[in-house]
Amino acid sequence: MRVAIAGAGLAGLSCAKYLVDRGHTPIVLERRDVLGGKIAAWKDEDGDWYETGLHIFFGAYPNMLQLFKELEIEDRLQWKEHTMIFNQPENPGTYSRFDFPDLPAPVNGLVAILRNNDMLTWAEKIRFGIGLLPAIVQGQRYVEEMDKYSFSEWLKRQNVPERVEKEVFIAMSKALNFINPDEISATIILTALNRFLQEKNGSKMAFLDGSPTERLCEPLVEYIEARGGKVRLKAPLKEIQLKEDGSVESFLIRGLDGAPDEQLEADLYVSAMPVDPLKLLLPDPWRELDYFKQLEGLEGVPVINLHLWFDRKLTDIDHLLFSRSDLLSVYADMSNTCREYANPDKSMLELVLAPAQDWIGKSDEDIVAATLAELQQLFPQHFAGESPATLLKSHVVKTPRSVYKATPGRQQHRPVQRTPLENFYLAGDFTLQQYLGSMEGAVLSGKLTAQAIDADLQNPGATPGTSAQSLTVEPATNAATA
Ligand SMILES: Cc1cc2nc3c(=O)[nH]c(=O)nc-3n(C[C@H](O)[C@H](O)[C@H](O)COP(=O)(O)OP(=O)(O)OC[C@H]3O[C@@H](n4cnc5c(N)ncnc54)[C@H](O)[C@@H]3O)c2cc1C
Repeated sequence: MRVAIAGAGLAGLSCAKYLVDRGHTPIVLERRDVLGGKIAAWKDEDGDWYETGLHIFFGAYPNMLQLFKELEIEDRLQWKEHTMIFNQPENPGTYSRFDFPDLPAPVNGLVAILRNNDMLTWAEKIRFGIGLLPAIVQGQRYVEEMDKYSFSEWLKRQNVPERVEKEVFIAMSKALNFINPDEISATIILTALNRFLQEKNGSKMAFLDGSPTERLCEPLVEYIEARGGKVRLKAPLKEIQLKEDGSVESFLIRGLDGAPDEQLEADLYVSAMPVDPLKLLLPDPWRELDYFKQLEGLEGVPVINLHLWFDRKLTDIDHLLFSRSDLLSVYADMSNTCREYANPDKSMLELVLAPAQDWIGKSDEDIVAATLAELQQLFPQHFAGESPATLLKSHVVKTPRSVYKATPGRQQHRPVQRTPLENFYLAGDFTLQQYLGSMEGAVLSGKLTAQAIDADLQNPGATPGTSAQSLTVEPATNAATA
C-alpha cells in the first residue's frame, strides 16, 4: 500500500518505519526544511547546534528504546546516574538529590524518597505516601478517573501539605507539561509517578549524544528510504481533498518558490501533524463528525528553549537539573551531558522556560536578560565578584504551540489512531496512548497507526463506521495493543 503521511516528527517517522517493516510504501511530507518537528535542531554559523527542546529519554520509554535497538543506534543514548537533582533556591549554589539505589522497584524509589531530607520532612513524606495509596492500590483506573482534578486539587483532596507541592511538584509539573500544578491534570503526574515507582529504571535518564535531527531522525529516514519509502522536506500539506463519499481522494501539497501545487494520490493517508495545524486543515464535512469535534478540546501549550554559551565552566554536573525557579523549568549543562556538545572549558546551558504564556511574545533579548537574572540566583558564585561569568552568545527557540496542554478533562478529547474514514488515520503524541505528549507517546502513536492500518487490511470488515463512539478505545486496551 502507498501511504501518504503528513508530518516528519517522531510520530510520522515512526509510522513510516513500522509501515516499511510491514512491506508498505510510505511517502512522508514535511512542511519545513528540517526533520523532527518538536525535536528539530539547527546548526548556527559557528557549527554549534541549537534545539527546539532539551530532550530527555527515560527508562520508562519501552517503544523508544525498542526503536533505538531496531535502528542499531542504542550506543547513541548516554545514560546518566540514576538520580534526580534539584537546585535549592533557598540555598543558592547547592543541590538536593534523590539517589535511586540498585534495588528492585518500588523499593529503589521509596529509598530515594526516604533518604532525601533536604526537601521534605518525614511528616510530609508520610502524608504524601498516604495520599498516594489509592493510586497504588487501584492503579491506572483510579489515575484516569483523577483527570477531572488539577494536581493541586488532588493534593488538597488527599490532605497532602501545601509545601509538598511547592518543594517537589511545581518542578515536576513544569517538566512534564510546561504548566504549574494548579493547571495540570492530576492524571499526568500520577501516571509519571506510577511509572517511576513501578519500573526499576523508569526514572533513569539518558541524553542523546548529539542533535536529535542528525542522530535520531536521519537514521530513521535512511531506514525508511532503504526499504522503498520516501521522506520529502518542504512539502507542506495544503488541503485534504475528498471523494464524494467523504473519504480522502488526495493530499494537495503546496508548491513553494513559485512551483505549482501538487496532487499526491495514495491508497491510504495519515496525518502526523500536531493537533493545531490538523484542526485548521480539516475538510468542512469532517467537522460535523463527533470524532473530529473532540479535537476542539486540545490545544498546544507555549514553551521556550534557551541556549546560553559562557566563557567558563559553571557546573561539572553531568545530568538534568530541576531549577525550581519561577521562570525556568529543567536545564542541563550540555557541555557535560552530550558527547557532541562537549567542552571541557566552557559551559553551554540549555534551559526550558515554562510556563511561557507571558514570555512567548517578548523579544529574545528580554528573555535572555530575565534568564540571566535567574541564573545569578542559582549560581551566585559565578556571577558576583570581580570577574563574573560572561555570556558569549545565545539562541532562543520559541514554540507557541507545543505538546497539548494537559489540563483536567483532556483525556476524553484524545482521538484514537483509527478515524471514522476508511482511508484516513491519525498519529501524533496527542492521540490516545498511555503516554502523554512525549517522544515515547509520539513513537508509540506512529506504531499504533501502522498496526491499525495493517489490521484493517488483514480484516477489512473491522474498518470502522462513522460513529466516533464505536471507535473509542479505552487507554488500557490501546496500551495492551502496544
Ligand atoms: C521544549 C520541549 C522540551 C521537550 N522535552 C521532552 C523530553 O524531555 N522528553 C520527551 O519525551 N518529550 C519532550 N518533549 C515533547 C516531544 O518533543 C514531543 O512530544 C514529540 O516530539 C512530538 O512528536 P510528534 O511527531 O507527535 O509531533 P511534532 O514533533 O510536532 O511533528 C509534527 C510535524 O508535522 C509537521 N507539519 C505541521 N503542519 C504540516 C503540514 N501542513 N504539512 C506537512 N507537515 C506539517 C511539523 O512541521 C512537524 O515536523 C519536549 C518538547 C518541547 C517543545
